[in-house]
Amino acid sequence: MLRRSSFALIPAFVLAATFVGNAQAPAGGAQGQGQGQGQGQGRGNAPPPAPMEIKQVKPGLYMVTGMGGNSTVRVGNQGIILVDTKNLGDQFYNDLVAKIKTVSDQPIKHVFVTHVHQDHSGNIGKFTAAGVEVIAHEGLKRNLETGGPKGTGYESAAGKPAPPSVTYAKQHKVTLGNISAVAYNFGPGHTGGDTFVHFPDLRVISLGDHFVAAQPNSDYPMGGSILNWSKSLNEILKLDFDTAIPGHGDNPLTKADVQAFQKKLEFIGNKGVELAKKGVPKEEIRQQIQAAGGAELGMWMVTGIINDARLDMFYADLQAAAKTAK
Ligand SMILES: [Zn+2]
Repeated sequence: MLRRSSFALIPAFVLAATFVGNAQAPAGGAQGQGQGQGQGQGRGNAPPPAPMEIKQVKPGLYMVTGMGGNSTVRVGNQGIILVDTKNLGDQFYNDLVAKIKTVSDQPIKHVFVTHVHQDHSGNIGKFTAAGVEVIAHEGLKRNLETGGPKGTGYESAAGKPAPPSVTYAKQHKVTLGNISAVAYNFGPGHTGGDTFVHFPDLRVISLGDHFVAAQPNSDYPMGGSILNWSKSLNEILKLDFDTAIPGHGDNPLTKADVQAFQKKLEFIGNKGVELAKKGVPKEEIRQQIQAAGGAELGMWMVTGIINDARLDMFYADLQAAAKTAK
C-alpha cells in the first residue's frame, strides 16, 4: 500500500490531526482514488460512514450527504435535476432515491455526474436503466474506457461505473419546466473529465471534488492536473453564485470559500513551477512549497494533494510548465 509507506515520512502527531479532517476525502493514488468513505487516510481510525441525509440549501434545492460524494437535488414543476449518484451499489441507489422522495414526488429526469470516481459516478447504470438521461463530460467517458496507469479504464473495488448516456465538451444546458442547469468543464483539474453544475436562478453551483471541505487531490492517471485546476477555478469564479456545494463535506459553502481554495492551489502551482525552473529535485519541491505556504496550506502538500503516489506526475506537470514558461 503506497499510502501506508507514505506515513513513514510524516510525524505521528500530524497523522493524528489529519485523520479527523480527512475522513471524507478520497486520498488514494491512481486506482485507489474515489473509493469513498473508509478509503481515506484515516482508515482504521475513521468513524463508521455517516448515513445519508438530505438537507435544504435553498428553497427548491437540496444536498444529500453521506455514502459517497454529495449529491445535489434541484426540484422543478416538471421533474428533478440531480447531480451525482453516490457509491456504486443497489443499496446506495435505493437510499438516494428514497431520500429524494422525502422532499418531492417529482420524477428524476436528468442526472449530471461530476467525475469518474465511483463515489460520484457509481449508479449511472441504475439511472440509465430507469430511463433517466445521464450527462457527463466526454473526459469521464474516456476515463472509463482508457483511463488509469495501464490505460485500461477506471475501475473500483465496488466495480466499474456504467457510461453516461449524453456527453459534452465545454458546456451543456438543461431546461426542465421552470428550472434549468448549466454544466461546464474548463480542462483538467481533479480528473480529466470534471463537470460543474450551475443553477443560475438560485445562484448555486455544484463542484464535485473540484472543491471539497477537506484536502483535495488530483487524479493524474485519470487526466487530472494541479496546475490547470486553479485556472479552472478562476473560470468558475466568474460565474454568478453565492453558494457552492462541495464534493465532500457536510454543508454548503460560499464563493469566498471557493476563492480561498483557488488561491491555495494557485500558490502551489506557481511556487512549484518557480522551483522546477531552478532545478529543485522533486522530493525537495514538496517540502519547499509546504514551508513557503506555512500553516495556511495545512498539510495539503505532504498528506493530501501531493502524497508519494502523486509526486512524480505532479513533478512532470511542473517541468512541462517550467519549459513553456521560459
Ligand atoms: Zn473524486
